[in-house]
Amino acid sequence: MTDDTPKPKSHGRLAVRQTLRPRELMTDTPDLAGVWTAKIITLFPEAFPGVLGESLTGKALSEGKWQLEKIHLRAFGIGKHRNVDDTPAGGGAGMVLRPDVMGEAIDFAQDGTPPNRADWPLVYLSPRGKRFDQATAQRWSKAQGVTMICGRFEGLDDRVLYHYGIEEVSLGDFVLTGGEIAAQAMIDATVRLLPEVLGNAESIEEESHSNGLLEHPQFTKPAEWRGLPIPEVLMSGHHGKIAQWRQKIAEKITKERRPDMWADYAAQNPAKSPKK
Ligand code: SAH
Repeated sequence: MTDDTPKPKSHGRLAVRQTLRPRELMTDTPDLAGVWTAKIITLFPEAFPGVLGESLTGKALSEGKWQLEKIHLRAFGIGKHRNVDDTPAGGGAGMVLRPDVMGEAIDFAQDGTPPNRADWPLVYLSPRGKRFDQATAQRWSKAQGVTMICGRFEGLDDRVLYHYGIEEVSLGDFVLTGGEIAAQAMIDATVRLLPEVLGNAESIEEESHSNGLLEHPQFTKPAEWRGLPIPEVLMSGHHGKIAQWRQKIAEKITKERRPDMWADYAAQNPAKSPKK
């Protein structure tokens, strides 16, 4: 580190300072060939793996079944203070991430990744994007990896999106202060679909959003809790009847809670369409 490299503002952790140097940007884990990889461009690399380091995704991460590469946007910042943002053209509140800085970070990230976006999506987390869903998670899980750009402040100079033809994806119709939480949610949903991560493929097939229906309710021991018994059929051991009950209640819940999903489901399963 050179003398004029700025000290991190609040917390002087060595790990954070080290990531200011591009050569050391690469991940905590070794680069494993052929392993599904999430590359994250962020001003807050210390926020990763975050919750992805826990439970199933965390175990799979430490076993090298997927990997995470953190790219610290600050490393590409301009001047003594490594500036990454500037005031919005045309005026207005807040700051906008500079295209030249982000461009350098994206070029660094994309180096060595397949040029075909189907094999390696390049994504900007954005409330203006298409809503993330299970189908997107499935699509990304079939790629070799994904590069995610986490915005901050008022967002990213639009020319970057245009220049690289970046896919904008939203976690939902609300505004977060940054893309990091959205990135973690989307990586979680994607990584658990990798065949080597969640051993039990059956549990993926049946769960909410994978077959067009919300999942049936789940119960476990004790058989009675605070006066509430588990539905009798689930205790019957009769697999056919259990499957029937689960299907029926999944349909009922979907119909009540998500008329939009139910309409699509009914259209694809004519027997379910309302009788005239
Ligand atoms: N001014 C922008 C919001 C900026 S919020 C607008 O009105 O559209 C700051 C950053 O948080 C964004 O650049 C984006 O990366 C992230 N972000 C905010 N809401 C998000 C959402 N719903 N989904 C994904 N990312 C989001």
